[in-house]
Amino acid sequence: MSNPAPGPLETVRSFVNTRDVDDGVELLGTPGELAVWLAGQGLTGDTARADVAAPRAGAADLRRAIELREALRAHLLAHHDQPLPGGAAATLDAAARRARLTVRFTALDQTDLQPEAGGVDGALGRLLAIVAHAIEDGTWQRLKVCPADTCQWAFYDASRNRSAVWCDMRVCGNRAKVRGFRERTRAND
Ligand SMILES: [Zn+2]
Repeated sequence: MSNPAPGPLETVRSFVNTRDVDDGVELLGTPGELAVWLAGQGLTGDTARADVAAPRAGAADLRRAIELREALRAHLLAHHDQPLPGGAAATLDAAARRARLTVRFTALDQTDLQPEAGGVDGALGRLLAIVAHAIEDGTWQRLKVCPADTCQWAFYDASRNRSAVWCDMRVCGNRAKVRGFRERTRAND
């Protein structure tokens, strides 16, 4: 269902979709699940051994990760030319500061944002480094969430003029059309 995002941005899309509103699934239900998910995505700096790379995570880590995920979702909703709710940017900013994201000069004319913090903070920092890079290359604005309240699924808008609204026109687009149709017919009663 719906297009993957290019390169590492797909990891950010997967993070937002760890909550599946439509099916009522929460993949990050416990700190342990968060740790395993971050390691499995290669966000802990050791992609070879996801089993041993899982960072220690506590209740506060989980709370901050969920807060960050929902702030990211708010950004993706704002990509439909909607205003960004207050505090959403500040949540990303706070997470970047906790991760101590730092510009590193990695090769000739090449920089990279890397977290100095370890653990969950560092892993979330790597996620934000992907976001920062995608803002620069223009792919970030194409990452959106479906505006249907019952869906909110993150998808990549690969349309030529960046005009896609629904995660899947056949499902949510049609649902919205049906709802709009019902509302119109009710108004005519
Ligand atoms: Zn949808």
